[in-house]
Amino acid sequence: MKKGIHPKYENCTVSCACGHSFETRSTVGDIKVEICSACHPFFTGKQKLVDSAGRVEKYMKKYKLKSEEDKKQSKAEDRSS
Ligand SMILES: [Zn+2]
Repeated sequence: MKKGIHPKYENCTVSCACGHSFETRSTVGDIKVEICSACHPFFTGKQKLVDSAGRVEKYMKKYKLKSEEDKKQSKAEDRSS
């Protein structure tokens, strides 16, 4: 390699918002990501909303809709009572 023109290519850790992390190499140091192959719906097969601004919640409140998770919870409560 020619000297003086290549950035440092070092080991780094990529950490995701879901808690998953893995090591790779990069020129920019440690990387933080919001979504990765461990939590992306394409790989998990489960639907997941990436709702960092709370927009879905706001919509649900506005139209008094219950999200799928809330429905499940209320069903579980019905059974227990
Ligand atoms: Zn992830």
